[in-house]
Amino acid sequence: MTNLAQLAAEMDHTDRLRPFRERFVLPEGIVYLDGNSLGAMPVAVARSMDTFLQHEWGERLIRGWNDGWWEMPTRLGDQIGWLIGANPGETLVCDNTTTNLYKLAWAVCTATVQGGPIVTDDQNFPSDLYILREVAERTGRELVIVPTDGLQTRMSDVEPAIGGASLLALSLVAFKSGALLDGSSWTRFAHEHGVPILWDLSHAVGVVPIAMADWRADFAVGCCYKHLHGGPGAPAFLSVRSDWIGRLRNPIPGWFGHADPFAMAHAYTPEPGIRRFLTGSSPIASLKALAAGVDLVEEAGVSAIRAKSERMTAFAVDAWATELRPLGFELSSPAGAQDRGSHVTLGHPSALAISRRMTQRGVIPDFRPPNGLRLGFAPLYNSFADIVRGVEAIKEALSTHGDADEPLGHVT
Ligand SMILES: *Cc1c(COP(=O)(O)O)cnc(C)c1O
Repeated sequence: MTNLAQLAAEMDHTDRLRPFRERFVLPEGIVYLDGNSLGAMPVAVARSMDTFLQHEWGERLIRGWNDGWWEMPTRLGDQIGWLIGANPGETLVCDNTTTNLYKLAWAVCTATVQGGPIVTDDQNFPSDLYILREVAERTGRELVIVPTDGLQTRMSDVEPAIGGASLLALSLVAFKSGALLDGSSWTRFAHEHGVPILWDLSHAVGVVPIAMADWRADFAVGCCYKHLHGGPGAPAFLSVRSDWIGRLRNPIPGWFGHADPFAMAHAYTPEPGIRRFLTGSSPIASLKALAAGVDLVEEAGVSAIRAKSERMTAFAVDAWATELRPLGFELSSPAGAQDRGSHVTLGHPSALAISRRMTQRGVIPDFRPPNGLRLGFAPLYNSFADIVRGVEAIKEALSTHGDADEPLGHVT
């Protein structure tokens, strides 16, 4: 461990992103390795919320809608669009990931004549599977959940199911294994089969380079409370390649997505652009909080964040090999840093009890059934020393026999 600690100190010393740690509120004595479930709070949130309360809601009252609230879903959308390589006007912040997935999957399935199945894989997030099944059933389609090795989805897994499909829906970074797919070749693969692709970017946005426009990817949804540090229940985003927008209907049409909301017309006419996917009022307070997190990611830059993230997961996997593999942990994430997002999952039969004991000792990981101890690394506030603390806490948890029934928090 001394070697490891020394190496971590050297890595931290040369880390260009180190100053960003001060920009987050992190409780003293806590090592937070669960930023991929709920990102830490940016310091700037307090000020922006205060400004919002005092000077916007408090003073401007309804006039606030004319002072910038109205544009927030598209303004923030374009900022996030830039982070995912989409063109301006293609990305919108609204609702949550689950609802946005419903909106887009339903819109695609009712816009295309192709009646083939919706295809996804068994590494996708539960909510995604529920929504895709619902959309498939309601539009008279099948849902095909392609089996994989649980580690990394291969094109050969999907190949037998893709012909004639209506939609291929995949997570760019798998929530359990952390596997990162090659967005460019997967998008090409779908298109070669004449199938549009919908990416769930929840574990990828803000920490992995994404190039929606260069890939020619059709659709994306994603979550803003993980590596965008947007806060619990932060509104999510959806992104639609511009040539699709005019052809898609919002299955939950509302006045915010109307072409002329204040005409108060009886008939629904969708806004021509991406705003057609809005339904009702936007949660302005939550959007203000989210803006602080997005600003930080933009300031640091995704490529610098990705470079550190790869170093961090590689460091963690090296530490696993020397310190934890001999104790019975297996690596449940891809072996190469280029094939991972920003978390590493270790398999152990006592993973649940270990994660609880770690949390009691102030090191917060999370647990994914059946036996995954998931360690998330947020390059903007985690240090290499945090990883060493994490490994130490795992070893301590294994060697003690305390009472470990402190409930786990809400984690996704
Ligand atoms: C976290 C996550 C979500 C979150 O969904 P919400 O509806 O925004 O809570 C969805 N999909 C994936 C792949 C996720 O990792």
